[in-house]
Amino acid sequence: MKEKLKAIREEAVSKILESENLDKLNEIRVAYLGKKGQLTEVLKGMKDVAPEDRPKVGQMVNETRTAIEEKMEEVKNNLAAKAREAKLKAEVIDVTLPAKKNKIGHLHPNTVALEELEKIFVGLGYEVVEGPEVEYDYYNFEALNIPANHPAKDEQDTFYINRNMVLRTQTSSVQVHVMENEKPPIRIISPGRVFRSDEVDATHSPSFHQVEGLVIDKNVTFADLKGTLQEFAKELFGADTKVKFRPHHFPFTEPSAEMDVTCFKCGGKGCRFCKGEGWIEILGCGMVHPHVLEMSGIDPEEYTGFAFGVGLERIALLKYEIDDMRLLYENDDRFLSQF
Ligand SMILES: [Zn+2]
Repeated sequence: MKEKLKAIREEAVSKILESENLDKLNEIRVAYLGKKGQLTEVLKGMKDVAPEDRPKVGQMVNETRTAIEEKMEEVKNNLAAKAREAKLKAEVIDVTLPAKKNKIGHLHPNTVALEELEKIFVGLGYEVVEGPEVEYDYYNFEALNIPANHPAKDEQDTFYINRNMVLRTQTSSVQVHVMENEKPPIRIISPGRVFRSDEVDATHSPSFHQVEGLVIDKNVTFADLKGTLQEFAKELFGADTKVKFRPHHFPFTEPSAEMDVTCFKCGGKGCRFCKGEGWIEILGCGMVHPHVLEMSGIDPEEYTGFAFGVGLERIALLKYEIDDMRLLYENDDRFLSQF
């Protein structure tokens, strides 16, 4: 019996030492210590042992069991330590590696220009109003005094949704909505996307942005228009900027003008940037046509007003000295990240 127990103990210990994982250890536990394990079988054979020897044999069986269990615990702890070490090794962090950089975006030059422009006019007491991009023919043309036979209404210039609706060709359409819904005094700017049936080139795009301005009140004169836009130009291009108004024609204003600013590069002396002119054309403006006021329910005998329209891209191109408008729409990160 003693020999048998010794053999079981040695066999079990050597198997335990050879086991490479916890599953294997468990198999060994079942094989030796389990209900049908070898050691249990020995205990079952106790009935054949002489009664006076039983306590001795019992003690030997217990010793064997304890020895196997202790060995098993020891190997189990070793295996666990090894597994932990392997895991730590696999998860090691190399602090000398360069960090992953998060790419932080920034505002598009158009947005920067728009925010600056809005800031100037909000500072002058204007409200920012937006209007629909898909517009009735009435608001885009008719209510702005643009007659049915005007060339701007041609399908070559305008995207038609159907006979009565267009993609707005100008933000001036917002003027009409505001005049219909609000009572003077009115002082708004309306930025937004407009659409023309243009081929894409360095200065044209089928979609671009305008900022419309409208002021209506009692006794508003061309002097107010001039003062306001002069202030705007100084804020935008610098305190030394001078402005110049040239007579022009727009159907919805009378009189109408185009405004030039002195070249902010050469101060008006003439340079490559302003093509030697010293002046740069910047916006269209004029006194709101009495007929336009009347159509929107405002009495032109009581109220007068002025309006202006600025091309937002034009401002962005000038401000950042970009020579091709297409660059603003190509979403090329190498270009956009410069601003
Ligand atoms: Zn110049």
